Amino acid sequence: RAEVQAKSLALSEVMTKAGEYYKQQLRHAPPAIAYLKKRGLTGEIAARFALGFAPDAWDSLRSVYPDYAAPELVEAGLVIDKSDEEGAGRKRYDRFRDRVMFPIRNTKGQIIGFGGRIMEQGEPKYLNSPETPLFQKGFELYGLFEARQAIRDAGYVLVTEGYMDVVALAQMGFPQAVATLGTACTPTHVQKLLRQTDHVIFSFDGDAAGRRAARRALEACLPHANDDKFIKFLFLPPEHDPDSYIREFGADAFEQQVRDAMPLSQFFMREVIGVNDLNSAEGRAKTQFDAKPLLQAMQASGLRLQIVRNLAQQTMTAPAEIEALFELSQPVAR
Ligand code: ATP
Ligand code: MN
Ligand code: MN
Ligand code: MN
Repeated sequence: RAEVQAKSLALSEVMTKAGEYYKQQLRHAPPAIAYLKKRGLTGEIAARFALGFAPDAWDSLRSVYPDYAAPELVEAGLVIDKSDEEGAGRKRYDRFRDRVMFPIRNTKGQIIGFGGRIMEQGEPKYLNSPETPLFQKGFELYGLFEARQAIRDAGYVLVTEGYMDVVALAQMGFPQAVATLGTACTPTHVQKLLRQTDHVIFSFDGDAAGRRAARRALEACLPHANDDKFIKFLFLPPEHDPDSYIREFGADAFEQQVRDAMPLSQFFMREVIGVNDLNSAEGRAKTQFDAKPLLQAMQASGLRLQIVRNLAQQTMTAPAEIEALFELSQPVAR
């Protein structure tokens, strides 16, 4: 156990050094600065998120660490070891090259990973650190460390998909934003968010992927949705994400979107009704069928009861019949 701790400490130092280096390199990279400016970001906001730049070279980290061959660099996900089958030549090379760098911090503020964005067209658009002993994607939220005070001040957190959404929202007056890093929102993410605030607003991209992400977020929330929690979903026009929306329409329009966000109970009903025809017995039965696993994932609570009642009404069933049919757990007797 002490060994594990020593190891994490070593990795943490490796990551801190890399973060410092990339940040330093941004000063000497006019194209990267121009890219960030073109995306509407000020130097101040770049500094706030400690944005950086990974130079266009195979082994620029050689100048950062005394031993470029150290195993910690692979463990930290900063370099890649080419396997022997791929032949002679360079064996080890930097993972991040010619990319704008977004450091990802844990809640203590330590850098645990990076996201790197390519500036031109190219694949992949974003390159993220691999999972390491420090960095587990299902657990971490980009921007949470930077946003903590703002979340308290605003009384809610905005959950987005991407780095640029977080940084752009912060610049435009919404510093209470975090991102799930392109991975699905997990129950662990939700738990982590609800430790910071009782009011969570999901604001994913308006495209099909964003709508799927909202559905998965709904499922991730159900075990934690409770009577003193406010969970909402904000749906942007299909061609927009929070970054593009707030740049095109401004902060007031985004604020209006926040005010109009759909409560979880309403999104729940919209999802389970889907395309089912409530005027037919089959459509009502299918709606109940689709609602069953979702309701079963919820704890017994006033909110669940409200959803059951609404579902009962829409599907011409008695609430007690739904509870019996779904074998919903009863509140634990006190
Ligand atoms: P930008 O505005 O810079 O084009 P975005 O954040 O809008 O980027 P999306 O395509 O909406 O990009 O993706 C959302 C998030 O998903 C990204 O911020 C990134 O974390 C992750 N992501 C996107 N593409 C990739 C990829 N090819 N590999 C890994 N992660 C990715
Ligand atoms: Mn997207
Ligand atoms: Mn996007
Ligand atoms: Mn975007």
